[in-house]
Amino acid sequence: MTSLCSNRRLWFALVAMLAVPAPRAALAVEHILANIEGRHQRFSGKVVHEDPAGGVLLITDDGAMWPITASAIRNRTSDSKPLVPLNKKQLAERLLKEMGPGFQVHDSKNYVVVYNTTRTYAQWCSSLLERLQKGFVSYWKKRGCDISAPDAPLPVLVFSDKASYARYARDELGGSVGNAIGYYSFQTNRIAMYDLTGSQELRRQNSRRGTLNDITQLLKQPAAEPLVATIVHEATHQISFNCGLQTRYNSSPVWLSEGLAMFFETPDLSNRRGNGAIGKVNYSRWNLYRKNANAGTSPRLKSLIVNDDLIHNSRTAFDTYAAAWAWNYFLIKWHTEQYVAYLKMLADKPLLVLDDEKTRLADFRKHFGDNLNELEKDFFRRMSRID
Ligand SMILES: [Zn+2]
Repeated sequence: MTSLCSNRRLWFALVAMLAVPAPRAALAVEHILANIEGRHQRFSGKVVHEDPAGGVLLITDDGAMWPITASAIRNRTSDSKPLVPLNKKQLAERLLKEMGPGFQVHDSKNYVVVYNTTRTYAQWCSSLLERLQKGFVSYWKKRGCDISAPDAPLPVLVFSDKASYARYARDELGGSVGNAIGYYSFQTNRIAMYDLTGSQELRRQNSRRGTLNDITQLLKQPAAEPLVATIVHEATHQISFNCGLQTRYNSSPVWLSEGLAMFFETPDLSNRRGNGAIGKVNYSRWNLYRKNANAGTSPRLKSLIVNDDLIHNSRTAFDTYAAAWAWNYFLIKWHTEQYVAYLKMLADKPLLVLDDEKTRLADFRKHFGDNLNELEKDFFRRMSRID
């Protein structure tokens, strides 16, 4: 289960285009008319980064972030109004308008779920997401992170079936929609997914799309575990990038973002408060990590740190995800303070600047020490004691 989190590849292409950073404080809302892939589009939002050529990274009132190159911009004006994030009602209206007929909205404390499946399934999702968010924020606060619940509602799209989900996702992910059951997008800031109770693997007579209890029972079966874990994984990315723990469009290593999301993947659907399972061993990742570690084929720490190639390469991704889970698990459990400081340093990195290998290695060493061999030995020792 390789998840499709954000559009990192697009990000790299944009980094190359936007080149040298020239951050500028921008309080006003800018209105930009841009020609993107042959279509004129209007954007209104706050410029959070501008490059010397005039390309911008714009955050809009729905939390989306749009990288727009200078050559795409046709017209640009600004006013003196501050950018005010949409409230739940406004976000719901915006999403319903975009998604069209057949969609409805279910909102909860921190989420706006727009769906065209059953209301009960939308309720099941928002309940899972609320519990996850509460557990996530409290977990990191207890470990000294200066974060808080996102200050704007988070958007979630739930499609009734895989085909309609894939049609929506294709615009953004292109051919890489694959078998993923959901994804979080850096650009739109949304999670998109489809109703799992309609999937072939889980469908059982009379149990599909029934009561909240039916859904919970259906999604408790072992076959559903990796699917629910994917929803939790994508939702963890969304929370992490909206609560101040991580920053979108900066140079955060992918092994870290992915390992962090996998750390929270162990869902405990029987726990109504939902955070009892945080930090449990993620056995599906651990089994693969251990098999590779025993065979001497698990990626070395340095190769995870210096660039994102192993995790981006479809041939090595699955094994690298397992190693990334193991490293994040180890560092969060046994080097908590250093991990928290490392996250903070990464969150403060400038937007749209891609660190080179030397910088990545130096950043890691600064927090976890110069002797990577010693750290690896301790890692293997501690991880081999898990059973
Ligand atoms: Zn991910």
